[in-house]
Amino acid sequence: MKPDTNCIFCRIAAGEIPSNKVYEDEQVVAFKDLNPQAPVHVLVVPKAHFATLAEMDAEGAELVKHALTVIPQIAASLGLASGYRLIVNQGADAGQTVMHLHIHLLGGKPLGEKIV
Ligand code: 5GP
Ligand code: ZN
Repeated sequence: MKPDTNCIFCRIAAGEIPSNKVYEDEQVVAFKDLNPQAPVHVLVVPKAHFATLAEMDAEGAELVKHALTVIPQIAASLGLASGYRLIVNQGADAGQTVMHLHIHLLGGKPLGEKIV
């Protein structure tokens, strides 16, 4: 899928908008959330543009699989040996605000009450 020039995460992935990157390879980029909700709050973002899992094609699925594969190493590099939480908001009811699929990686403290 082609980058969307109006999409903030496509522009971060392309290096057009600055971000605090903690990991990058050919398929994904991970950078610190602008408005952190935990001591460690990183967004793991496939470089291809698709808004939600419902819009994901086969190439996108490979990128998400890759993202999940590298997350343990990103978490280890951020010192999250005692655990972390992943959140993927999908659509309005989940409060998704950036319509480019991303995985929130949260940790650095006990994360409190679980919703599920
Ligand atoms: P969502 O609500 O879509 O699941 O999460 C979007 C996240 O992106 C929010 O946590 C928000 O703080 C973060 N965010 C939005 N714009 C930017 C930006 O320009 N840079 C960074 N680093 N994070 C952003
Ligand atoms: Zn995008």
